[in-house]
Amino acid sequence: KGRAASDYLAGLNPEQREAVETLEGPVLVLAGAGTGKTRVLTTRIAHILATGRVYPSQILAVTFTNKAAREMKERIGVLVGGAVEGMPWLGTFHSIGVKLLRRHAELMSLKSDFTILDTDDVVRLLKQLIQAEGLDDKRWPAKQFAGMIDGWKNKGLTPPEIPEGDSRAFANGKGRELYAAYQQRLKTLNACDFGDLLLHPITIFRNHPDILKEYHQKFRYILVDEYQDTNTCQYMWLRLLAQRPKGQPQNVCCVGDDDQSIYGWRGAEVDNILRFDKDFPGAKVIKLERNYRSTEHILGAAGHLIAHNEGRLGKTLFTDRSEPDDEKVVVHAAWDSEEEARAVGDEIEQLQRIKHPLNNMAILVRASFQMREFEDRFVTLGLNYRVIGGPRFYERLEIRDALAYFRLVCQSADDLAFERIINTPKRGLGDTTVRNLHDYARARDIPMLAAAADIIETDELKPKARKALFDVVQDFRRWQNLLENTEHTVLAEQILDESGYTAMWQADKTAEGPGRLENLKELIRSMEAYESMRSFLEHVALVMDTEKNAELDAVSIMTLHSAKGLEFETVFLPGWEEGLFPHQRSLDEGGRSGLEEERRLAYVGITRAKRRCHIWFVSNRRIHGLWQATIPSRFLEELPPNHVEVSASDSNYGGYGGRGGYGQSRFDAADPFTNNYSTPGWKRAQANKSDATRDNWGSRSGHSVDRIGYGESGPKSRTIDG
Ligand code: ATP
Ligand code: MG
Repeated sequence: KGRAASDYLAGLNPEQREAVETLEGPVLVLAGAGTGKTRVLTTRIAHILATGRVYPSQILAVTFTNKAAREMKERIGVLVGGAVEGMPWLGTFHSIGVKLLRRHAELMSLKSDFTILDTDDVVRLLKQLIQAEGLDDKRWPAKQFAGMIDGWKNKGLTPPEIPEGDSRAFANGKGRELYAAYQQRLKTLNACDFGDLLLHPITIFRNHPDILKEYHQKFRYILVDEYQDTNTCQYMWLRLLAQRPKGQPQNVCCVGDDDQSIYGWRGAEVDNILRFDKDFPGAKVIKLERNYRSTEHILGAAGHLIAHNEGRLGKTLFTDRSEPDDEKVVVHAAWDSEEEARAVGDEIEQLQRIKHPLNNMAILVRASFQMREFEDRFVTLGLNYRVIGGPRFYERLEIRDALAYFRLVCQSADDLAFERIINTPKRGLGDTTVRNLHDYARARDIPMLAAAADIIETDELKPKARKALFDVVQDFRRWQNLLENTEHTVLAEQILDESGYTAMWQADKTAEGPGRLENLKELIRSMEAYESMRSFLEHVALVMDTEKNAELDAVSIMTLHSAKGLEFETVFLPGWEEGLFPHQRSLDEGGRSGLEEERRLAYVGITRAKRRCHIWFVSNRRIHGLWQATIPSRFLEELPPNHVEVSASDSNYGGYGGRGGYGQSRFDAADPFTNNYSTPGWKRAQANKSDATRDNWGSRSGHSVDRIGYGESGPKSRTIDG
């Protein structure tokens, strides 16, 4: 092994060390961002292994992403000196769920080689079931039902358990019946969906106490990262495995931060963390207060912002990662999103010139459509970038579909494009028709679209397919004729509308639907910069061609949601405008709690930064095809002046701290009756802020240390103590 056991413990502070060394009994580590929660979990596993208590296969460890699981494995390897052989039970809830289910598939009437259906498969299956019931699947869309089933499964509900009202909400009260029929059908197909990966093991554990007992004996240590984002189903699953009969050891350790709960929209229940000491009596609750990641300016800004939420747990955070010349958090203003991308690109190049690796920089966006502008700009500059947690903009499903339409209009011999969209949206042109067309085209050596135009004149196809194909051919003829004389962005929109493609996503009731529509709008918007549809497609082809190399030094672009747990020297946070961040949808649907979840997302964003955090807002953004004067995000007003500065350099408009300029447009939009302010609201709010509403600032002996007491968030705040 070559390393003394104390090596990996030496760097820990006393509280971290306690969390690592308290191996017996339940432990909850409840602490703010960057305090080393993940590090504690990793070290704890290393400690368990190094002290030879159990085999690696007796440890169950849950991470939030597969990437986090891989990294944790590597880190453990480094800590205990050598590769960790077989940590088979380290992974996400889902990956562990699959493994459990494969072992006991027969108990759920499945075979161990069951397939896992993706969303498309699920929707297709549900549609069949809905139709088989004699129901109109336009009135009762399968997509919507798929979303409902997913919601039930996240809550751990099998068909008999769903609330009566839920059942009534779909298909004239046939909700439950259809859900049951769906589960039955999955079994016949030897398949399950994502939700089943957790729900089935729960059912197995409940119905087979002997099996549950085996796992109680097997899993001697259970560890969970990002505990604040577990949903009800995951929580039930975990409780079954971790709660032991009296007298048996319950060695469960969960770490989390209530301020970073950002998946409420997907069913996560932050209350799970509050219940921990009820679920596991005698739990030791450990708080970590020292932040090892960020400067005091970054921490101060984040702490002050999140203090605007109610119902938080008491927490304290301080840092010693501060140096006299630390930058404050900088707020920048730009005219529009193009200028925003250009300015961020400039800053990145400046940092690069003074030898900052691109790997240390990230752009975190609220909505994925925002990425496009940055990607385009970086391609122009020749800056390497990678998109984390999802495809790059032009590689997204809906964008590729749309591009396929455009390609085929510009170039009617593009068979790949033809095949991609011929039955998207669904037109009843199934595989057989496509194969027919293919053969016909091959035999005559003509493109498929031309073959389609021919074949509709014959009687080779069934009348229904023939009619559908006829419509498609007509559509493309019409669009091709419009190509030369119509504004290309107008035509693009027309194509997506007339083909039924936009409608397809409008009818989509899953969580992704609205985002896809946003992306399509952004696509059209991005075409404006080009002369014609052809030149735009050329540009896209070039962008798509840029290298994707994991080894490459590259800027990361990702959503705030997928940035959880990560850290970067420099973080750029663009798009801090009302309606985008906080996002309108979360305000409309979530009310106050929606707003608070957005604020937690802002907190997650700022606390990803180690040394530099740059926030941007623009005064004009195109929303639904129209330029709109935007209002700076309310979150900007919630940042503390002593840790934040407003950049004066980057705009031609006098900055929004200047005379009029942004301040003016802000009030024009926000409040038509009071447009005579000479000081922008953001500044005023700061000036008026009384000491009483500030956090407690203090310092710790010797160091230049900031202590941000944010346990005083009003009467509703809850505390738990160990
Ligand atoms: P988040 O809430 O964002 O997930 P976290 O609480 O999990 O954060 P970590 O990612 O574990 O925090 O740690 C943050 C950073 O601080 C990491 O770079 C980690 O290596 C470092 N760190 C943690 N503890 C210590 C320590 N005792 N000494 C030095 N560095 C530390
Ligand atoms: Mg972490």
